[in-house]
Amino acid sequence: MDISSKNIIDQHHRIHDYLRISLTERCNLRCVYCMPEEGNLLKENSKYMSKAEIIQLANVFVSLGVKKIRLTGGEPLIRKDVAEIIKELSKLPVELAITTNGILIDTYLNTFIESGLRSINVSLDTLKKDKFNTITRRNYFDKVMANIQLLIKNNFHVKINAVIIKGQNDDELIDFIEFTKTQPVHFRFIEFMPFDGNKWNWDKGVSYQDILKLTSEKYGNELKRLEDKKNDTAKSFKIKNYLGTFAVISSVTNPFCDTCNRIRLTADGKIKNCLFSDSETDLLTALRSGENVQQLILDSIWNKKRSRGGMETFDQLSNPLEHGKNRAMVAIGG
Ligand code: SAM
Ligand code: SF4
Repeated sequence: MDISSKNIIDQHHRIHDYLRISLTERCNLRCVYCMPEEGNLLKENSKYMSKAEIIQLANVFVSLGVKKIRLTGGEPLIRKDVAEIIKELSKLPVELAITTNGILIDTYLNTFIESGLRSINVSLDTLKKDKFNTITRRNYFDKVMANIQLLIKNNFHVKINAVIIKGQNDDELIDFIEFTKTQPVHFRFIEFMPFDGNKWNWDKGVSYQDILKLTSEKYGNELKRLEDKKNDTAKSFKIKNYLGTFAVISSVTNPFCDTCNRIRLTADGKIKNCLFSDSETDLLTALRSGENVQQLILDSIWNKKRSRGGMETFDQLSNPLEHGKNRAMVAIGG
């Protein structure tokens, strides 16, 4: 492994070359597992990164070896200057990707094409319109489905993220896999994770083992395990002769911290060195006052805990006194 002085590394020898930038804490959906019921309390505008600050900070991260940038939120595509941000970031020597709820994909399709952004994760937790309205508390099912088809038609690499919750959408797991029979998408089943305000309770969780049991019983020898890529958070599978694939992201029951290479930059310019960490480093204030942000980045990641922000055991993760100190997911970015 080539560890140069320019790399962002932690005390556990993990190189961090993947940056997730949240563009906003706002969203046009209100997903029950993400957005607190009372909404997310927004700060005044000046507390959030401007376009120029996002680009400036992205450049610093790239100078420290970051090779991939994913835009997220809140909903990244509701930010008015998102097209300009994508165009500017596409000039950097990085793989650019985005995670979106899919509602505004048609508006920005040409921006994606012109910027060479080919990898798009769309969140969709159900194939049923009524259920979509209940989960997201909004009515955009047809729009999201049409936009997924638009991406497929234009040969994008499409991943669909579904958070699997017992009694909510676990009855659709086989339907999701059957969707991959004719659609060349990668469906990813995400274990329900605890964040502030989302009423998490693992009784509602569906584990990697549950999903494996269900799919093995249904598909037997037709179910093929695919090889994981380095730093992959998902265990991937394919049903013989199906066009698409599927995967399980098991952050709760089987975390993938050993190979974690992720850095998160929140919309208000704080580094979170782990999705589950409650400690943050304020890069934006430092940038505005002319401090050395490179050193702050290196220090923040150096101090990253080995696993799940220090919640090594399932009992720790399940304890609201531990995970309740974290932000709501909508203000982190996933
Ligand atoms: N709005 C965009 C979207 O929905 O794709 C991007 C931001 S959203 C916070 C990023 C991802 O986090 C989504 O795929 C969402 O399903 C996932 N997510 C949100 N809350 C979660 C939770 N409690 N457990 C697991 N995944 C969650
Ligand atoms: Fe919005 Fe995405 Fe959270 Fe749903 S998961 S409320 S779309 S940020």
